[in-house]
Amino acid sequence: MTAAPWQSGGTVAFADLDDTLFQTLRKLPGTDPATLTPMTVNTLGQPHSHATPAQTALLELLEGGHVTLIPVTGRDAQAMRRVTLPFRSWQVMDHGLTILTPDGQPDAEWAAQVTAHLHPLQDALHAGTDAITAPAARLGARLTRHAAHGLPFMTVLKHPDADPQVLADLQDRWDAAHGPDSPLRVIANANNVSLLPRHLGKAAAVRYLLDTHLRGAALTLGLGDSVSDLDFMNECDFAVTPRRGQLMRTLRGLTLPQR
Ligand SMILES: [Mg+2]
Repeated sequence: MTAAPWQSGGTVAFADLDDTLFQTLRKLPGTDPATLTPMTVNTLGQPHSHATPAQTALLELLEGGHVTLIPVTGRDAQAMRRVTLPFRSWQVMDHGLTILTPDGQPDAEWAAQVTAHLHPLQDALHAGTDAITAPAARLGARLTRHAAHGLPFMTVLKHPDADPQVLADLQDRWDAAHGPDSPLRVIANANNVSLLPRHLGKAAAVRYLLDTHLRGAALTLGLGDSVSDLDFMNECDFAVTPRRGQLMRTLRGLTLPQR
């Protein structure tokens, strides 16, 4: 696949993937499958996540407007290979800890910055993981450790039935141990809870790209569905969020003074 050359003065869309550009059928109850476009495959190569007609139209709008589309995802390289939607430019994976060049190679300068940031966090990450291991096992949750550039950076808890009570219990334990002064933070969505660096993530990766390889963008858009996407969306000129997503639900639950 050829890389679209970056042109200063262009438009860039930084887009979260899962639940923003596509989602699994479980999240689309009552939808006619014939109206959906497959966007990812599972480990067996069968269609897994799908775009709705509105999501497909949004992608066509970006494509037609020659917008440079950059995924900003928690997926790792392996999960990224199961995304069939083609990307032709930079890619942000591993919650921001890996940036791929348009040629598909890890950006070496970013990798060096990430590695330097991760080394001092290893003790905190190990301690946070050790502390949750026994409670997670007792509650039937699965624990996985994720690495970037050969260094652990995140621990993820999942429950086979996505039991909200179990996930909330485990999240509370982690939250209690990782207040605002902790170098780690906890993020959660409907089917997992993750412990990862507080000051290094999607937002830092987007800022890095805007300060280096994508300098001179005339317009930047941030697309995301989750509260944890807010920081990277805030690096962009405008934010786009899907209806009924976690972010929209949270915003609608706030009562702010209208000033
Ligand atoms: Mg998402």
